Amino acid sequence: MQNDKKAPETQWGLNEIISHCKEYGFIFPSSEIYDGLSAVYDYGQMGSQLKKNLRDAWWKSMTQLNDNIVGIDAAIFMHPTTWKASGHIDSFSDPMIDNKDSNKRYRVDHLIENFAETLKEQEAKELLDEMDRLLQADDLKSLYDLIVKYNIKCAVSKTSNWTEIRQFNLMFDTKLGSVSEEADKIYLRPETAQGIFANFLNVQKTGRLKIPFGIAQTGKAFRNEIVARQFIFRMREFEQMEMQFFIRPGSQMKWYEHWKAERKKWLEEIGIPSNKLRYHNHVKLAHYADAAVDIEFEFPFGWKELEGIHSRTDFDLKQHQQYSKKKIQYFDNDLNEEGKPIGNYIPYVVETSIGLDRLFLTVISMSYEEEKWLKEDGSEDSRVVLKIPAKLAPMKVAILPLLKKDGLPEIAKKIFDDCKPHFHCFYEEKDAIGKRYRRMDAIGTPFCITVDHQTKEDNTVTIRFRDDMKQERIKIDELKGVILKALQ
Ligand code: ATP
Repeated sequence: MQNDKKAPETQWGLNEIISHCKEYGFIFPSSEIYDGLSAVYDYGQMGSQLKKNLRDAWWKSMTQLNDNIVGIDAAIFMHPTTWKASGHIDSFSDPMIDNKDSNKRYRVDHLIENFAETLKEQEAKELLDEMDRLLQADDLKSLYDLIVKYNIKCAVSKTSNWTEIRQFNLMFDTKLGSVSEEADKIYLRPETAQGIFANFLNVQKTGRLKIPFGIAQTGKAFRNEIVARQFIFRMREFEQMEMQFFIRPGSQMKWYEHWKAERKKWLEEIGIPSNKLRYHNHVKLAHYADAAVDIEFEFPFGWKELEGIHSRTDFDLKQHQQYSKKKIQYFDNDLNEEGKPIGNYIPYVVETSIGLDRLFLTVISMSYEEEKWLKEDGSEDSRVVLKIPAKLAPMKVAILPLLKKDGLPEIAKKIFDDCKPHFHCFYEEKDAIGKRYRRMDAIGTPFCITVDHQTKEDNTVTIRFRDDMKQERIKIDELKGVILKALQ
C-alpha cells in the first residue's frame, strides 16, 4: 500500500453512513417505492447477514458460553393483561408538547436538551438539573413553566406558542379476531422481556434450572416513538436482545455489578474500541428498577445508549403473580445459616438489554472510513472501507480471477466451490481488479483472493488484506486453513 504519505483526513458523519448503507445493500428505507415509512427500515443483502452475525454472536455468548443461560423465542402478541401487570399500559409514555403554529411535536426532554446546548455551561447545567428533577417528579405543569421561562422556541415556526404537556403512550395496539371491542385490543410488545417473565415457571421447571440462571431472547419490539430520528438509532420497529438473570433476593447488587462488567467486556471482545464505550448511570429510575446503567457508545451524533443493565427487583414476577393469580415462586433447597432449606421466594432479576439495530449502527459507525493517500506519482487515491471485524463481516472472502480468460475463471470457481461450505464467499470476474477490490472494501470483505497467470504455474494465489491493502502469495491448499484461523 502506498499510503505512508497520508493526505489530510476527511470528515464524515451520519449522512455518509446512511448513503453508504443504502448504496451497498445494507439498509433501505422501508417501502421506499411508496416514499418510505418514517423510522422503519429494511435490511438488504449485506445488512441482513451482518445483523444475523451480530445476533448469532450475542446468542452464542449468552446461551452457549454460559452453562446457566438458556434461550427462548416467545410470541410478539401476548395476553393484554401482561401489559397491565408490567406497568406499560399505565406508565410507558413520554411527556410531549406541540407547537400550535407548526404542529410539530417534541419530546419535552429533547426540546429542553437542544435548547440547553445554546446556553453557557453553568446555565445549561442548572436548566438540565431542574429538568431532571421535574421529570423525576412527573411535574408536567412546572416543566411547561420552565419552557416558558426560558422562552424556548419551536425550530420550525420560531414561536413559543405551546400546548400543555401531555403523556403519550408508546405502545402500538391492534385487534385480535374480527370484533372491534375494547376487550379484544392487544398490543405489539414494546420489549421482549415480558415473554421471558411470563414463561419463567415453564422454563425453570422443564429445564430443571437452579437459581442463579438466565433466560435469553432475541426478537422484534415495537414502540410508537414520537420523535423518531437518527436513522436506525430510534426506530418504531426494532429488534432487542435481552437476557433476564434470576437470582436470590438480596444478591442483586453483586449480579448487577457482574453483568455491568461482563456486557462491556463482550462489546469490547467483538471489536468495539473501549475508548468509544462508557457507562452512564440513570438519573431517573424506571418504575421497576432499583439500579440502572447504560453502556453508551460514541455515535457520529454523540454519546448515546447502546445497552441497558437494569436491576428489576422482583417487580415483574410479583406483578404477574398478582394479575394472573398463579403462584410464581421458586423453591430454593440450598441450606441457610441454620442448615434448613432457604425455601420459597419470588426471584429477583438483573437484565441486560441491547438493541440489535443500535449494535449494527455501532459496528458500521466504528468501521466506516474514508481514506485518501498520495500515490508515488503524486496523484491522489482514495477509498471508502468498512473495517468490520472479520468474524462479523457479512462476506468473508472474494474470489477474483484477474482476467476473464486463459482458464483463470475455472480455477477461481473451483476455489469458490471449495470454500463456500465453510464461509460466505463472493465470486466476481467483471471490471478491472482495482475496481473489484474497492467494491469489496466498501462492503467490508476482509480477504480478496486473486487468481492470476502465476497460479497456473505454481498453484499459488494472492491474498489481499482489506485493512492495510497488503498482498501475499499463498498456496491454494493453505487458503482455507488461513482464512478459517482468521475467523476464529
Ligand atoms: P432510549 O432512552 O434511547 O429511548 P430506552 O432506555 O427506552 O432507550 P430500553 O427500554 O432500556 O431503552 O431498551 C433496551 C435497548 O433497546 C436500548 O438500549 C436500545 O439499544 C434498544 N432500543 C430501545 N428503543 C429503541 C428504538 N426505538 N429503536 C432502536 N432500538 C431501541
